[in-house]
Amino acid sequence: MARVVIDYSRCNLCGLCIQYCPGHVFSIINNRVVARDEYCVECYACVPLCPTRAISIEEPDP
Ligand code: SF4
Ligand code: SF4
Repeated sequence: MARVVIDYSRCNLCGLCIQYCPGHVFSIINNRVVARDEYCVECYACVPLCPTRAISIEEPDP
């Protein structure tokens, strides 16, 4: 399973990831984007979508 990592020093809470992630991985809780990795379908759409480049997907070890 991939790990969805958010760089909180970059995230500006624009909400685009919440709107467009097909797995509904992202939500805002207590003014922070949280990612439920277990729903990630590894489409990688969020990486270029995030305007501040705050999201990265870490591949699982082979
Ligand atoms: S798209 Fe990027 S900047 Fe916008 S809420 Fe998601 S992680 Fe934060
Ligand atoms: S890689 Fe795709 S499914 Fe996974 S968090 Fe990003 S947009 Fe959502």
